[in-house]
Amino acid sequence: MRSEGILIVVSGFSGAGKGTLMKRLVEKYDNYALSISATTRVPRPGEENGREYFFLSREQFEKRIADHALIEYADYCGNYYGTPRDYVERELSLGHDVILEIEIQGALKIKEQYKDALLLFVTTPNAEELRRRLSGRGTETEEVIKKRLRRAAKEAEGIEKYDYIVINDDLETCVKELHGIISAARHAPGRNEEFIEKMRRDLEGE
Ligand code: ADP
Ligand code: 5GP
Repeated sequence: MRSEGILIVVSGFSGAGKGTLMKRLVEKYDNYALSISATTRVPRPGEENGREYFFLSREQFEKRIADHALIEYADYCGNYYGTPRDYVERELSLGHDVILEIEIQGALKIKEQYKDALLLFVTTPNAEELRRRLSGRGTETEEVIKKRLRRAAKEAEGIEKYDYIVINDDLETCVKELHGIISAARHAPGRNEEFIEKMRRDLEGE
């Protein structure tokens, strides 16, 4: 019915579970292509270059910006993060649904360039659980956790700009909900213009 894939943007507070959810989503369903971002932040223990992120120096990152190799980029808590253009455009043209797991400034830049991108916002059921998950992950210092929680308060102001909000309470339930929303979006008339046009032409000829 559709030739181009859907561009799906997933944002949410740090510690809400986006990384965990995306990993599970691509394991469970085979139509998703997860974009790997570039960043200047240092890898966390267990993270690998080219798997979670492409880890770059500031100089390398700034060269990517100058070369227009990123569709969008943003500063998040003192580090650059950005989405490589090549992968996203190739996968979309192959008809795959591409997921970008990015913060709000980047999400809004994507919406300006890709009008029919689907914007999803992931949150914990409450703020206390957010703090618990951020601390429990054990990958950030107390100072960085504070920075990220302050950032979460700012990000909460922009939630209405998203198409859907998803609460990550039980992981498996949330993965199914995300897949359900994306599957429903595929049926929007705006994403099926070719089909509709053909149906209209054929009906005229009847
Ligand atoms: P984000 O990518 O949004 O910063 P992570 O995926 O790293 O968040 O998750 C933060 C922490 O919360 C991790 O320790 C992860 O194992 C845990 N977590 C994720 N989803 C859930 C969930 N549904 N219930 C309980 N813990 C969760
Ligand atoms: P983390 O350091 O926890 O991996 O990511 C910090 C924040 O950066 C998260 O909100 C994550 O969604 C966001 N992020 C990751 N990659 C990108 C990207 O390519 N562009 C933008 N704008 N944000 C990103």
